[in-house]
Amino acid sequence: MSDSKISEFDIVIAGAGMVGASLACLLAESSLRIALLDREPLTNTGSIAQTERKSEKFDPRVSAISQASKNLFVELGVWQDVVARRVCSYREMQVWDAEGTGSIHFSAADINQPELGNIVENSILTTALQGKLSQYNNLHIVSPFTIESLTNIECDGKHLVQLNSEDGQSIRAALVIAADGANSKVRQLAGFSCREWDYEHQALVTTVRTQHPHCETAWQRFLETGPLAFLPLRVTAHDDDQHYCSIVWSMLPEKAERIMALSDVEFKKELAAAIEFKLGNIEWCDRRFSFPLRQRHAVEYVKDNIVLAGDAAHTIHPLAGQGVNLGLLDARVLAEEIMRGLKAGRSISDPTVLLRYQRKRKGNNLSMMWLMEGFKRLFAEQNLTVRWLRNVGMNSVDKLTPIKNQMIRRAMGLDR
Ligand SMILES: Cc1cc2nc3c(=O)[nH]c(=O)nc-3n(C[C@H](O)[C@H](O)[C@H](O)COP(=O)(O)OP(=O)(O)OC[C@H]3O[C@@H](n4cnc5c(N)ncnc54)[C@H](O)[C@@H]3O)c2cc1C
Repeated sequence: MSDSKISEFDIVIAGAGMVGASLACLLAESSLRIALLDREPLTNTGSIAQTERKSEKFDPRVSAISQASKNLFVELGVWQDVVARRVCSYREMQVWDAEGTGSIHFSAADINQPELGNIVENSILTTALQGKLSQYNNLHIVSPFTIESLTNIECDGKHLVQLNSEDGQSIRAALVIAADGANSKVRQLAGFSCREWDYEHQALVTTVRTQHPHCETAWQRFLETGPLAFLPLRVTAHDDDQHYCSIVWSMLPEKAERIMALSDVEFKKELAAAIEFKLGNIEWCDRRFSFPLRQRHAVEYVKDNIVLAGDAAHTIHPLAGQGVNLGLLDARVLAEEIMRGLKAGRSISDPTVLLRYQRKRKGNNLSMMWLMEGFKRLFAEQNLTVRWLRNVGMNSVDKLTPIKNQMIRRAMGLDR
């Protein structure tokens, strides 16, 4: 391809998932020329009419969206679109230990908030974001574009990064932001090092209908083999049927293999028992999917004029539903630092600007990752003394209102 045919931008964002699309909206508020690419075809219209959910068919991938993430979507003007499709707020959270009497109850009322968070299907969020993308003249959607290779280019005294697709397209920019998910191709091609290890857990996800209403509560039971969460869903924006839940059940691979192979009848029985029949019997279940869980953290988020954000920089156990919330905080901070740098007359790939982003986000992401790792190990522990201490600890924290409230505020992203 001749150079004249290669599109050049100030910033290319690789990956239009929840993090990449949010970042694109944030940066498009500037006069920068931005390209957002994805291997999946993006419609760029995302109209409500196309995707309004009236059926009882839910996306098996959902996210517990923190208050901080919701605030971001409100600022971007996409939250009203999400609400018009469907979203379920949860006001309470019940967490308990399968091996004993330890339990904690969190309530939004305790911290004078209307809700603890919101459960949203990932596809609803990305569609709402895609609807917003079409409103910016300085934002170009390039899809489908599957990244295959990356080249560093010197052009008219500028250092540019060029991304090349499997089908021969090329695109270049002064700054490339990798938001292309856990198996980031950009991260691999640019040679970022990562610390990673297997959680030795598979996450099984599906949707179920329960006998009793979920009462706008997120239910989580810590089993020795991994945590099981029932996340509340609603059918439409106007329907208050409280009998659907999204299931995220993390478990050892051998167990996942057995549970995936069960018939629906057997699965429903085993699932109801695993959550101690808190919501009665399971009346219906959708297809089951299972994902291997790995913890991954890039050693550096910045390498010359390439930056990592979201799952491309870090993946974390879903037990506290924090993955995309951390990624959205990355997006917010990176956009803020780039804008701040521009106002100070710095270039978008100035290392001072990019490294400030890394400093602000890396420690925060790492501390949340360690916390999740600690929880996972603590609840897998079979030693009787540890189990006893764990139960006493949970019950004590439940009674210590200031500590409990601080935990809720951190999980909601209200205290960074
Ligand atoms: C079972 C489970 C439950 C979870 N629950 C929660 C939760 O409750 N709350 C929460 O905050 N997080 C949760 N997470 C984590 C959350 O799903 C992720 O953190 C989030 O999806 C990451 O978003 P992202 O935009 O960084 O990456 P992704 O959503 O992975 O998006 C990456 C994008 O890049 C594109 N792409 C990838 N490769 C290429 C390529 N080579 N070329 C071009 N495009 C490419 C993809 O098509 C995609 O659109 C959960 C995760 C799992 C596994």
